[in-house]
Amino acid sequence: MPPRIQKELDESRTHQERTGRCLLCDILAEEKLDGRRIVIENRAFAAYIPFFARWPYEVHITAKRHVQALTDFEEREQRELAVVLKQLLTAYDKLFNLSFPYMMVIHQRPTDGEDYGYYHFHIEFYPPLRTATKLKYLAGSETGAGMFINDTLAEEKAAELRSHVTEISWPTFGEKD
Ligand SMILES: [Zn+2]
Ligand SMILES: [Zn+2]
Repeated sequence: MPPRIQKELDESRTHQERTGRCLLCDILAEEKLDGRRIVIENRAFAAYIPFFARWPYEVHITAKRHVQALTDFEEREQRELAVVLKQLLTAYDKLFNLSFPYMMVIHQRPTDGEDYGYYHFHIEFYPPLRTATKLKYLAGSETGAGMFINDTLAEEKAAELRSHVTEISWPTFGEKD
């Protein structure tokens, strides 16, 4: 198991045992309550810059329903995911008027058949740019000690991204709600 996933699984299980609740459901509830770090929200997903972001424009997309994998989604949710992805990637590109580079990481339950009901599906984006022309290079404390330093405020970066979010409509979906 990769160490980052193992850490998330361990913390999710510990939180579940301690509180009886899901860690990501709790984080999502806090993000919605505060609202300042949310970039996009629709019926099935919320995209936000978490308060613990390591990259200035790091965005996490979390399913509102407590599910563990892409294959758990209903068709309605698959469409909502496509919409939120398109909206986020368009906002990224508009930010500096360039094709915004990023790593996109899907975090879902392992496929070894064990029960991971305490885990929660989400996608994380790590864009390396700080400005249109500046990359975030890792410094000594980051590379040498493993401590990330983010000198931006998630609330401000979320507002920047939010100002570039536009509606996406796909009338061919034919949904009635
Ligand atoms: Zn959950
Ligand atoms: Zn994750």
